Amino acid sequence: MSAAVAAAERGHRVVLHEKGDRLGGQLLLAGAPPGREEFVVLAGDLARQVELSGVSVVLNSTVGEALIEAQSPSAVILATGGEPITPAIPGVELPHVIQAWDLLTGNARTGRRVVVIGGGAVGVETALLLAEKGTLSGEALKFLLIHEAESIEDLYSLATHGSKEVTVIEMLDQLGKNFGRSTRWGMLQDVERCGVKTRVAATVVEITTEYVRIETEGRIEEIPADSVVLAVGTRAFNPLQERVAARGVALRVVGDAVRPAMVFDAIHEGFTAGRDIGCNEIDEEDTECCSDNPDVGMSG
Ligand SMILES: Cc1cc2nc3c(=O)[nH]c(=O)nc-3n(C[C@H](O)[C@H](O)[C@H](O)COP(=O)(O)OP(=O)(O)OC[C@H]3O[C@@H](n4cnc5c(N)ncnc54)[C@H](O)[C@@H]3O)c2cc1C
Repeated sequence: MSAAVAAAERGHRVVLHEKGDRLGGQLLLAGAPPGREEFVVLAGDLARQVELSGVSVVLNSTVGEALIEAQSPSAVILATGGEPITPAIPGVELPHVIQAWDLLTGNARTGRRVVVIGGGAVGVETALLLAEKGTLSGEALKFLLIHEAESIEDLYSLATHGSKEVTVIEMLDQLGKNFGRSTRWGMLQDVERCGVKTRVAATVVEITTEYVRIETEGRIEEIPADSVVLAVGTRAFNPLQERVAARGVALRVVGDAVRPAMVFDAIHEGFTAGRDIGCNEIDEEDTECCSDNPDVGMSG
């Protein structure tokens, strides 16, 4: 989105294609856990900028070679993002094993006992999202409190402990190593408060329909699981670069499509690419104002 806005501000006619039904990409996933709504707000702000900049947006449009051939843009910026990694663990193909991304988009559900594999930012936030399911709402809590229906201790427990039993498995010796220091402290407090169980320095050996088998310092443990959630990292998703490059058009790849990083990096790289992709990179014949083809086509 930032690439599209920057290119439009330089006077290019820009078409932004998004394969989903909404702009925002991973920001919408990052904003799903409790307390992380600012990411959804950021996605909305960027989408508003896109709208005001005069960029044409085409939703539910997966860019492939045929579309690029048909539109024949003078320049292409690929911002196709990342995709979640599926680890090579025996049993990972079982139907009760899901990606954290599917849970965060609301496209998957879990049973009562959930094992989350991966204790980085995505794994911990997903665990907290699950742990909050079935906890007392603020309104119910107030009602019970003012009517003195339960003891303070019981109300605290009802507000913090939901209906799911969640365990996070991390192979490093600490959870949330990729969090900033202050964020990590708050997250670890939440993990403890919400009763999320953790195993660190633990390797998942096998997933079965009944349990997840882990090894910690040579000791084997079987953790019962109705659902297993994968949160082991993101890798670049960039299937179009070679084919677009072969067409000889001006091309930039930005954001997680280059290598998974942070929101700021993606926005900054997008802005720079949109600002810089210009006349010296675009074949003069293609940049005729009267041409039906867009100056810049975007994906992502
Ligand atoms: C759960 C979670 C939590 C996160 N938390 C943080 C955090 O706290 N701080 C932080 O800085 N970062 C965080 N991130 C990472 C951050 O969201 C990403 O680095 C950033 O969104 C990458 O932006 P992007 O535009 O490169 O890719 P994406 O956001 O992945 O966007 C790519 C878009 O391209 C679309 N697309 C792909 N292929 C095509 C195609 N062929 N045609 C059309 N459209 C296509 C996709 O549908 C998607 O909408 C988090 C990510 C996740 C998943």
